[in-house]
Amino acid sequence: MEALVHPIVEAIKLAVTRIPDDTVSALRRAYESEESKVARFNLGNILMAIEIGRDRSIPVCQDTGTMTFFVRAGVESPHLGKIEAAVLEAVKKATIEVPLRPNSVDVLTGRNSGDNTGKEVPIIHWELTRGDEVEVAVFPKGGGSENCSALAMLTPAEGWEGVKRFVLERVMECGGKPCPPVVLGVGVGGSADHSLKLAKKALLRRIGERNSDDRIAELEEELLEEVNSLGIGPMGMGGKTTALDVKIEVAHRHPASFPVGLAVQCWANRRAFIRIKADGRVELWQ
Ligand code: SF4
Repeated sequence: MEALVHPIVEAIKLAVTRIPDDTVSALRRAYESEESKVARFNLGNILMAIEIGRDRSIPVCQDTGTMTFFVRAGVESPHLGKIEAAVLEAVKKATIEVPLRPNSVDVLTGRNSGDNTGKEVPIIHWELTRGDEVEVAVFPKGGGSENCSALAMLTPAEGWEGVKRFVLERVMECGGKPCPPVVLGVGVGGSADHSLKLAKKALLRRIGERNSDDRIAELEEELLEEVNSLGIGPMGMGGKTTALDVKIEVAHRHPASFPVGLAVQCWANRRAFIRIKADGRVELWQ
């Protein structure tokens, strides 16, 4: 197990200290296109924080998030049985070595575990796949933006117009709270819990990467334009860039239900991935 802990610690460190290139490029484009001085000032500060994090290998934000992992586990991997324990150990180690802010507290007492672990934490989403490789996505999720995530159980009659209305109203209601520019993950269909899971998983896609279904891709573009027409802007102080992107994932739904999960991600759009091969070799990327 020890051999797996080190690469997971490295992936956590990469995720919290280095914002992926696609997000940095989107923030730079936003900086160039903003006309408002305040919006440019806020984006300039965000870009500076990102640069400092990268150059000094320190977290880009004081809130290093709730440690969340998406694991695509090949059923023939010889490492399958060790992954959960390795993730847990890596989170404890990373809390000291990176360091991460201890962000895991008991729901009854509020007592902080001190090492980012606890009941059901770190959060691990499992998906079984064919083959002998395991892919682990590290997704540290900031609390401020998570507080704006939401669920709507629409009626089928409300349909896609209802989806748009729900997302726009929620973004408007949250204003600067989720540290915009945000990335929005929208999960439509399935069930209440599944739509939220789809929404969060959608955030793993790169900025600008569209849904492979052209009809959904078009809805992503439309919603992005409408969110940016709200004028909330960087850090909620006005401007053209409220969101860097909108990602929609869908599932078939019950004829009587129209669940919509919304996962809100802040400008600190952190993620890193590792692939563990059957022979123990590990690839790390963002
Ligand atoms: S919402 Fe994101 S940017 Fe804002 S404090 Fe939390 S982690 Fe940092």
